Amino acid sequence: MSDHVTSASAPSESTRASFADVFDTDVAGRWTAPGRVNLIGEHTDYNDGFVLPFAIDRSTIVTVGRRSDRLLRVASTFSDVVEEVSLDALDPSAMQGWSAYVFGIAWALGQRGVSLSGGADSPVTGLDLFVESDVPIGAGLSSSAAIECAVAVALTDLWELDVTRPFLASVGQLAENDAVGAPTGIMDQSASLLGRADSAVFLDCRSLDAEVVDLGFTAAGLELLVIDTHVAHEHATGGYAARRASCEEGARLLGVSSLRDVTVSDLPRAEEVLDDETFRRVRHVVTEDQRVLDTVRTLRLDGPGAIGPLLDASHLSMRDDFEISVPELDLAVSVSRDAGAIGARMTGGGFGGSAIALVPRDARDAVSAAVTAAFAAAGFAEPTLFVVHAADGARRLG
Ligand code: ADP
Ligand code: MG
Repeated sequence: MSDHVTSASAPSESTRASFADVFDTDVAGRWTAPGRVNLIGEHTDYNDGFVLPFAIDRSTIVTVGRRSDRLLRVASTFSDVVEEVSLDALDPSAMQGWSAYVFGIAWALGQRGVSLSGGADSPVTGLDLFVESDVPIGAGLSSSAAIECAVAVALTDLWELDVTRPFLASVGQLAENDAVGAPTGIMDQSASLLGRADSAVFLDCRSLDAEVVDLGFTAAGLELLVIDTHVAHEHATGGYAARRASCEEGARLLGVSSLRDVTVSDLPRAEEVLDDETFRRVRHVVTEDQRVLDTVRTLRLDGPGAIGPLLDASHLSMRDDFEISVPELDLAVSVSRDAGAIGARMTGGGFGGSAIALVPRDARDAVSAAVTAAFAAAGFAEPTLFVVHAADGARRLG
């Protein structure tokens, strides 16, 4: 680590449990931001396309104290080390590890034109931040956006910034891209910041127009079951970046600025122009965009009980065309369907993480038991299964 991002304190014997275990400053407030499940629309966000995530009732809470100097200091139940950086020396290339998600937000605010220079009466001061979370890490539920957005709304309030939620989403994305080094799109932060109870966020990633769409799961007697396979994924390297590069290459060869400009009816021509692998990558994105639009229309016209086939088709497209599934996800999906789910798919960036299954409430236990048994029979690690509800987005707690 460079000299301006340091590990300031030695680890204690055990992981700190609270703000007061680590910091001397008074608590100025607590802010929370949720993780998200993407109902449908995978790898479409960075192609200027459509996504339909919802914020979940699993969230990060950041407790913050105001400092009299220019230091940002951050601790987490996740780590025994207190990290610190000066507001005058924010450098994304020097940020690493989990604290990059926090310091990256401060840096990205500055990059996007917010003045961090402070001064005599300025509210822009140093801060102590303590992070805790019940969003499972690396499960595809975006614990990363939860931490970014909790910090973003905390800094907005404490530094008295006059900014919008879509602006904060772009700040979160910039932090994740340039401070963390993960080339992810704007979906996760948008869901975490714009989510509403019992609703999904229908986001056009080109215009950044966002619409809240009623899910109606509860009224329809449905529950959304998350199946965390515990297969670790890593966004900053490997497959995610390679898929993104394939999409850019496909768009370039088709003469469009992004795959958003390709429709299902263009696919026969695309198949003639592209090599087989690039074509399949493109076909996933183009058909997935259409499935998002179809899901929104189906939710509005026919209700959530009718979206199952779209979830199933999305999974097959990711498995066969985009090739981002793993055997654990495929098993979770097929066993869920056989045991009574009305639709199921892997969710998140792929290569691990979680699957989702939309289940009638009275079939939930049977689906859970069947998935757990099938994983044991296959010799896979035991999955964690839990129901999530669509929840409100980031906000101040007190
Ligand atoms: P996902 O977003 O799917 O959970 P990512 O790899 O994008 O997975 O983000 C996980 C990373 O976010 C963790 O490895 C850690 O660096 C950071 N993170 C998430 N939650 C916390 C937390 N409560 N405390 C510290 N770091 C966290
Ligand atoms: Mg993430």
